[in-house]
Amino acid sequence: MRRWFWLALLALVTLLGPARAQDRSAQERLNVVASFSILADLVRNVGGDKVNVAALVGPEGDAHVYRPTPADARKVAEAKLLFINGFALEGWLPRLVQSAGGKATIITATDGITPIKLGSAPDSHAWQSVANAKIYVANIRDALAAANPANAAAFRANAEGYLAELEALDSDVRQAVATIPEGRRKVISTHRAFGYFAAAYGIEFIAPVGVSTESEPSARDIAGIITQIKKAKIPAIFLENVSDPRLIQRIAEETGARIGGTLYSDSLTAEKGEAPTYIAMVRHNIKALTSALGH
Ligand code: ZN
Repeated sequence: MRRWFWLALLALVTLLGPARAQDRSAQERLNVVASFSILADLVRNVGGDKVNVAALVGPEGDAHVYRPTPADARKVAEAKLLFINGFALEGWLPRLVQSAGGKATIITATDGITPIKLGSAPDSHAWQSVANAKIYVANIRDALAAANPANAAAFRANAEGYLAELEALDSDVRQAVATIPEGRRKVISTHRAFGYFAAAYGIEFIAPVGVSTESEPSARDIAGIITQIKKAKIPAIFLENVSDPRLIQRIAEETGARIGGTLYSDSLTAEKGEAPTYIAMVRHNIKALTSALGH
């Protein structure tokens, strides 16, 4: 009985072996790397099942101050494409690419977007405008199609469907903002990550901390912010997943501004969190904003 089983298994393996090898070459997945979780989600939506996407800075990580690991170097070395945001987000990337070696083509997802300037530097957070995310997606689609022409039609079809979802998302955000009284469209947020969102949708973000997540505000900075909130009658302040929430709580206590919950700026959450995808992140943020500012 046992011998019969092994003979049958051997026959099965012999029969299926070549078919499987053929299958593999026809459907070989393209290995690509994206620098952070939001970008990885956009790439996954375009690549679908034809692409293996690895993120360097994963969910809830901070892409501004990241320290690459040896595992990251291996991912980059094995990748055919490396998607980055650009606009000075990934200061740690050139050293990683140099140490990893490999032949990955670097694709800058913000190509074609006019940056908002913070002093002389570009604001990195271009993805916070959905219209910009659509440009990311078009760049991703073209790069995947060029790297893997056999699956170009699939990438175009995926991108078309996803771009339609983003179009609907953009119009939902506009409709939601329109329900907030004009005088209340302003918030305080710990991290200056919403410049593109503000420009696109007309909600003013006043940040107590500079764009770098490395710098801590001084007592004088905080006093200035408190005065500003009182003067401008700012209705709500928001916590984020990348900065110190104690600062925000102190300001709230002294001004009476409402704490509006978490806005996700620079990274997605894990699968079971509130913002596991780009679309979920934008929907979560606009819901948090409208419920804090609406009344
Ligand atoms: Zn940021």
